[in-house]
Amino acid sequence: MRSDLERIVGADGIISQPDAMMRYIGDALGAFRAFGAASRLYATPSVVALPSDTRQVARILRYAQTRQVPVVPYGGGTGVFGAAAPIEGCVILSLERMNAVLDVSERDFTTRLQPGVVLEDAARALGNAGVLLGHDPWSRPIATVGGAISTDGVGYTAARYGSMGEQALGMEAALADGEIIRTRASAKPTNGLSLNSLLIGAEGTFGIVTEATLRAFPMPQKRLIAGVDFPSFEAGFHAICRMYAEGVRPTMLDYGTEAMSDGQTADDEPATLYISFEGFDADVKTQWARTLDICRRYEGREGEREEALRFWRTRHAPGERYKRDVLDSANPAQARRRSSAYRMDYLHVALPVSRVLEYRRRCGNIFADRGIRVREWSLWARPELFSFLIVQERDDGGETSPQMGEVVDDALTLAQQLGGSMEYCHGVGLKLSHLMDAEHGNGLRVMRRLKRAVDPNNILNPGKMLG
Ligand SMILES: Cc1cc2nc3c(=O)[nH]c(=O)nc-3n(C[C@H](O)[C@H](O)[C@H](O)COP(=O)(O)OP(=O)(O)OC[C@H]3O[C@@H](n4cnc5c(N)ncnc54)[C@H](O)[C@@H]3O)c2cc1C
Repeated sequence: MRSDLERIVGADGIISQPDAMMRYIGDALGAFRAFGAASRLYATPSVVALPSDTRQVARILRYAQTRQVPVVPYGGGTGVFGAAAPIEGCVILSLERMNAVLDVSERDFTTRLQPGVVLEDAARALGNAGVLLGHDPWSRPIATVGGAISTDGVGYTAARYGSMGEQALGMEAALADGEIIRTRASAKPTNGLSLNSLLIGAEGTFGIVTEATLRAFPMPQKRLIAGVDFPSFEAGFHAICRMYAEGVRPTMLDYGTEAMSDGQTADDEPATLYISFEGFDADVKTQWARTLDICRRYEGREGEREEALRFWRTRHAPGERYKRDVLDSANPAQARRRSSAYRMDYLHVALPVSRVLEYRRRCGNIFADRGIRVREWSLWARPELFSFLIVQERDDGGETSPQMGEVVDDALTLAQQLGGSMEYCHGVGLKLSHLMDAEHGNGLRVMRRLKRAVDPNNILNPGKMLG
């Protein structure tokens, strides 16, 4: 297989030495939080291929169809659910060489990018051209355009600009059978099904994004960043709901408790809202005045502006840390496996607003009964996007804990039962694939039928999102 692929990408476009391939084995999902999927995280690929253009990507896929070899697309390898983890004997197709910013149009407010562009580089290129990249996750220093589209990621400024998928106007992609498609990057088509849906949040199961046209946004005249402290999670939650009900539209909304709580929801646990507004001066002032007025009605008190600015300036710290400690280390594979030693999980569910507090209370009961502690309850971007960070009280030092896995499944299943979704930010990957049936019912069967139509041999990222 190596020599066949060399004919497509050239000798310098192939990595097959075991040591060099280690860098591509796995993503940011550590075994400690993979639970039932832990044993499948570190399979051995046959080869890593580094195509330089769309035609090479398509040729690799056609080759893989004829040989029935699995192919796993690989962006920055920062996904947290094992979606980029290898399948035994697969080709890892890394998009790192396709990393050009092709165009920035400050007139059309769009940008064309290759999939391997790191988001930080994209943000810089757009900034130099006087426009703004709307997707700004913690992982901006390390994640790529293609990975962010394929996971439909959410960032700090999603309250105003939407998720990555919502910012993707059009794409070029090589489908799993090697056919190249280009979707029309126009603002509002009503002319048939949008094939963008085969790519956004699809974790590379239908096709490989080889180019994306994203929206770019005006550089704001003014950006205001502030903090508001609330005496309890509930008080701030009601204030945020009220803000949305009255039409307040922040750019960033990051709200949550920080202190370690003991699983039961402590009503007197304080919580902090970091919020930003951007746009033209008068609008920002009015939005903030209305926000403060609403927050005060719910016992909110404005915090130090300097504190809020510090929060904003350090927002990419986890991504920078991961880059320094894992990706840029002498042995990224080893560093990745070591990167967290204690049992924790960070879950992100989407719920009807009316069920959020009930969900929080019922999760508290699930955790308290089973020795799980909650470190943080939080909301991101909107009142219905709810997250929590949990840790296991007793760590037995094993690779993964069945008990923690059961608790996580119970919490995610409860979100589904209350009319929500089990995940709003990070996708499905290896970790959540066993809950896809409960999430979609017979919709999952329809997705699989569509998949078979473009990927008859199920070569593109099998065993993950669609099985
Ligand atoms: C420290 C840290 C902080 C994080 N913060 C955030 C955050 O704030 N918000 C957020 O949403 N996520 C966050 N994540 C998760 C992760 O960064 C995102 O899921 C990101 O979008 C993944 O991008 P990537 O380039 O690393 O993709 P990868 O992990 O390489 O791949 C993700 C999926 O996309 C597929 N894929 C990659 N490129 C392509 C392509 N060109 N075409 C088709 N499929 C492709 C892969 O096969 C895989 O299924 C964080 C992760 C870490 C480690």
